[in-house]
Amino acid sequence: MSNLSTASSAKSSVIAHKFGGSSLANAERIAHVVQLMQSLSATHAAPNSTALKQIVVVSAMAGVTNALIEIAELAAQGRDVHVALYALKQKHDSATVSLLGGHDQLRNRVLNEIADEFDQLKDLLKALQLLGDVPRGAMELISGLGEVLCAKLVNACFQAQGSHTDSLDAREVLSVSHSELGCAVRWPESEARLAEKLSKSDASIERWVVTGFVARDEKDRITTLGRNGSDYSGSIFAALFDARELHIWTDVDGVLSADPRSVPEALVLDHLSYQEAFELAYFGAKVIHPQTMAPATRKQLPVFIRNTFNPQHPGTRIDAGFSKDPPIKGITTIGKQAMVTIEGAGMIGVPGTAERVFSALKAGSVSVVMISQGSSEHSICCVVQAQVAEKARQLLADAFARELDAGAIQSVNVDHAVAVLAVVGDGMAGQPGVAARLFAALGRARINVRAIAQGSSERNISVAINEADATRALRAVHAGFYLSSQTLSIGVIGPGQVGNALIRQMFAAKERLQAQTQLDLRVRGLAGSKHMCTHELGFESLEALQQRYQLKSEVLDLEAFADAIQTEHLPHAMIIDCSASNDVAEHYAAWLARGIHVVTPNKQAGAGSLKRYQAIQAASTNARFRYEATVGAGLPVISTLRDLLDTGDRIDSIEGMFSGTLAYLFNRFDGSAPFSSLVDEAKRLGYTEPDPRDDLSGKDVGRKLVILARELGFSVSLEDVAIGSLVPDALAGASVEEFMRRLPEFDAPMQQRFADARAKGEVLRYVAKLEPKSGDADAAQAPLKLSVLLQNLPANHAFAHVALTDNIVQYRTARYHNNPLIVRGPGAGPEVTAAGVFADVLRIAQSLGSELY
Ligand code: ADP
Ligand code: ASP
Ligand code: MG
Repeated sequence: MSNLSTASSAKSSVIAHKFGGSSLANAERIAHVVQLMQSLSATHAAPNSTALKQIVVVSAMAGVTNALIEIAELAAQGRDVHVALYALKQKHDSATVSLLGGHDQLRNRVLNEIADEFDQLKDLLKALQLLGDVPRGAMELISGLGEVLCAKLVNACFQAQGSHTDSLDAREVLSVSHSELGCAVRWPESEARLAEKLSKSDASIERWVVTGFVARDEKDRITTLGRNGSDYSGSIFAALFDARELHIWTDVDGVLSADPRSVPEALVLDHLSYQEAFELAYFGAKVIHPQTMAPATRKQLPVFIRNTFNPQHPGTRIDAGFSKDPPIKGITTIGKQAMVTIEGAGMIGVPGTAERVFSALKAGSVSVVMISQGSSEHSICCVVQAQVAEKARQLLADAFARELDAGAIQSVNVDHAVAVLAVVGDGMAGQPGVAARLFAALGRARINVRAIAQGSSERNISVAINEADATRALRAVHAGFYLSSQTLSIGVIGPGQVGNALIRQMFAAKERLQAQTQLDLRVRGLAGSKHMCTHELGFESLEALQQRYQLKSEVLDLEAFADAIQTEHLPHAMIIDCSASNDVAEHYAAWLARGIHVVTPNKQAGAGSLKRYQAIQAASTNARFRYEATVGAGLPVISTLRDLLDTGDRIDSIEGMFSGTLAYLFNRFDGSAPFSSLVDEAKRLGYTEPDPRDDLSGKDVGRKLVILARELGFSVSLEDVAIGSLVPDALAGASVEEFMRRLPEFDAPMQQRFADARAKGEVLRYVAKLEPKSGDADAAQAPLKLSVLLQNLPANHAFAHVALTDNIVQYRTARYHNNPLIVRGPGAGPEVTAAGVFADVLRIAQSLGSELY
């Protein structure tokens, strides 16, 4: 923040405030504004200090200026405006009644003033109806009436509080002249008129309520300062009253790094130089009118942009101070522009062409938003407002008529529907990285840049783009400058145990990750089988997310979900599928193809249709697909395999126990109790699926084996796995109850198998095995043996000694030949599975930042 003092006005006892229409939208807001001003003057009026005066410049109530303009246009078209006029009068009457209810005299005064203004307006509208046109002067008069009405009302509200306040109609004092450069204040006239007015008024008045937007022109006709011009009025009156500060009160906390309506991530800027604020305003930041800075600069008067509804916030300070940090302050866009291009070899090496373009346009009063010459000097293009594009084309065609005839210039063309995106900041001078970052962000969002210009002040780089791309471009560029390159927009599918554990883990790690690694995880959506919910900025906690989800206000639509998660205002998007759904897996390829990373513990994609698996792999060039938790939950089963493969090892075999349930059953099976009773016990302990046959059939283990085989490059499916199911054929079709009841009938053969094994000093284990038949795992075409079987293993085998429900996997490779590589540990449960998924998220996130910028 600048320390520049308020130099010339340091002794002034006046503070100027301007309230926009959004702060004066209805009676309640007006009351709030009156209260705010009263309390500020009370705080400032410290004992022994010179009493402070307030200048309160007001806009029209929100929407009133638009309504007045529309009514005038309708009247000129001969349309009936009674209803619209009545509604507008009613708006002012009812605000008056509600604000001044207990003050009959003041209320009647304002109601009469409103009635008078509307009577005059009615007469004027009748004249417009007859004319069939709205002459400029009439429009100026009519469009400024909102400010006149509002000032009368606000003034009366202060008086109702017993305050020594009076109103000042800017049409009595402010004199301006219009030119193509905008509206200029005629200072000497205005100063003289104000002095005269004040000399006739009571010197003890502590507050003036001034009409914004309106003025008189050099011929003393009523005029306005141009749309949004009350900010300019605020600054003009601050200068005229020699105020020490100007506070522009609006409905946002200050000037933001981008228009918050397009960029929810936009941040409040604590300081801007006058020039920065001017450029941001000129290139579209609606929060302040660009000309506001002129009187402020003239008087070295600091301007604060503040939020009427959050007055504790210090807002943005605009002054002469210059700060290079951050180098980029804001990014803006303006639409409704057109690009006029002159093209021809005849311009190459001919000096002064750009100046001729400028002067031709200036002579025709066409102002140029940006101008850019191709480095080949073969073309010059300038961006002008769409409404003057045709005029600009004609002016240039006339100015270059000779060259056009001679063929030195081939054409003067107009491209419509253009927008200009501007990146503004004092600190960008001499910082080459700024342009690189801008174009990287535009490139990543695939925005076609039509023309580029850098202001000679090096405070601004502007690019012309297609108007349809404007919001996307703004969001992408804002993300490029303001967010960590590792900001990840995350959508979780499947609010079950694993999904919830994962979200909880991510929230718990969020702050630490942001501080230590710049990783910015934003959980922005949750989808279940029927409903979903999303949040623009990201949910704050698992609880907030669950609360919103439980409202069930949005029906599930996975396309819409992906659209919400992948947003231009965040650099990266990821969907984490914690469901077990095959339908969700159907979307992976499309998501990956559009650049959404996919992470999942769901086995459907990895072990399901081969065609789909291949489509997913083919699509994962734009984004990453990770599925570590599909095989060993939190255990690094797949990543270990990948490391072996990526470092050039050769896989000779992979063996493992991939089912905690089956591991438990055979660990416990010591002959003392029948196998069926152990199944019953495991079921009661919650170690089995609701239907224990899902575990006993070996299919789940088979799927894990398929995932590993595919990781090795083999095109296999579940049918290629020889599975020794432990479900007796006779019970395959039974209900769960019947299955459990009749399972003891099949205990005998299992008991026999156990006794045989024990006799040989062996144990029974349910083992999955992958073995390239030729022993050459490098060749993905080599025949492969995949089996999932109950096996007899020597009692000293590594698999004989796992803890109750542990998973274990053993890789025998060229390097780990005699002594295989073993990964072992708990292979199921929501927390460890979620941790496996989270590890995938982090692996993807950590690989993101550097490659993009
Ligand atoms: P007022 O009625 O107070 O004059 P405006 O509607 O004219 O308010 O201007 C405030 C609005 O400007 C904000 O509500 C916001 O939507 C919009 N705006 C556009 N760009 C910016 C920006 N860079 N910073 C802050 N607000 C912006
Ligand atoms: N009421 C005017 C407008 O809507 C001026 C302003 O609000 O700044 O343009
Ligand atoms: Mg405004």
